[in-house]
Amino acid sequence: MGVDSDTLATWLAAYDQSQITIGVVASHSSLQILHGARLEGFKTLGIAVGENRRRYYRAFPGAEPDEWLMLEDYREMLDYAEWFRKRNVVIIPHGSLVEYLGSSNFRSLQVPTFGNRGILHWESSRERQRQWLEAGGCTMPKVYNDPHDIDGPVIVKYAGAKGGRGYFIARDYRDFRRNADLEGEFTIQEYALGCRYYIHFFFDPTASDGFQVQGRGSHAGQNLGRLELMSMDRRDEANVDEFYKLGSLRDLREKGLEPSFVVTGNQPVVIRESLLPRAFEMAEGTVAASFELEEGAKGMIGPFCLETIVTDQLEFKVFEISARIVAGSNPFIGGSPYSDINEPFMSTGRRIARSIKKSIAEGTLQDILS
Ligand code: AMP
Repeated sequence: MGVDSDTLATWLAAYDQSQITIGVVASHSSLQILHGARLEGFKTLGIAVGENRRRYYRAFPGAEPDEWLMLEDYREMLDYAEWFRKRNVVIIPHGSLVEYLGSSNFRSLQVPTFGNRGILHWESSRERQRQWLEAGGCTMPKVYNDPHDIDGPVIVKYAGAKGGRGYFIARDYRDFRRNADLEGEFTIQEYALGCRYYIHFFFDPTASDGFQVQGRGSHAGQNLGRLELMSMDRRDEANVDEFYKLGSLRDLREKGLEPSFVVTGNQPVVIRESLLPRAFEMAEGTVAASFELEEGAKGMIGPFCLETIVTDQLEFKVFEISARIVAGSNPFIGGSPYSDINEPFMSTGRRIARSIKKSIAEGTLQDILS
């Protein structure tokens, strides 16, 4: 169950829009979101489980929430819906919120939320992501339905593997057979060899200037809104990043060691400037396709990230999309080499708050929330 637009309109009609509070679960990119909300003049609310969580925000007075909601379990947020709405709260979702609540609870949370929650359905399955990204003109790593067809290095992703734990790399079919757990449910993907770039965009459907996304299909001939490049990161992943230092994959496997892809941090990067046109082309196609995913789709709103690998042929392979703020934007709380060109100190978190502020002024809040 999601939230329909009439329900959202009813909630917003009862909101005092001059007193909006930005609410966020205290994790993931919350320092950035809280800091950005503060810079844009909003009151802020932190939602946390456990005093330890709350306490460390004292170390960051520039982001410390004005108010806290302390819970025993994040799923209690569902019961606090009215409490949130009475305080004119707009929730900013991030990966941890979706993980803590579960995607169906998140979709049915009865509180105005930044962005389009409907897009989560498309983000939450590998097959649907592929359908969406390919419709947007992105090239994805090949998928092998039959392991016998494996003709080069692959990455095997088990269903339910979290944070890249439970993935494994195989160099060929024999390697796959030796190491695969055939009982498990998995996807076999071509291992795209190259350098990783996690590209953070922001799509503002209420802006009519700048780089305008051209509509497709039922929206052909329309400008859908402004696409902005916010920043780029590369993830630190334990222990694949450091694995090579210990010897060959084969040697290490004999010792029972397998590379894992657990994100431990993020590093800022920029990409060759000549690759930017293609990056924009892929992001534009992905946004345009988001409006065609189903009839009447509200499409992408706000931040999203294309997770890519650039090969030595200077071609992008997109292996995943996140349709919300990513933690990889955290190195840029003070701005990025890209966002600084347009306005200094514009983090993605602040950009979200700016978008809410502008929509309050223009009476278009309904267009950017769900
Ligand atoms: P994911 O859970 O899809 O974000 O993947 C976790 C990590 O595995 C990524 O950050 C990459 O380092 C790596 N990875 C995923 N898919 C591929 C691929 N097709 N080729 C190479 N590396 C990949």
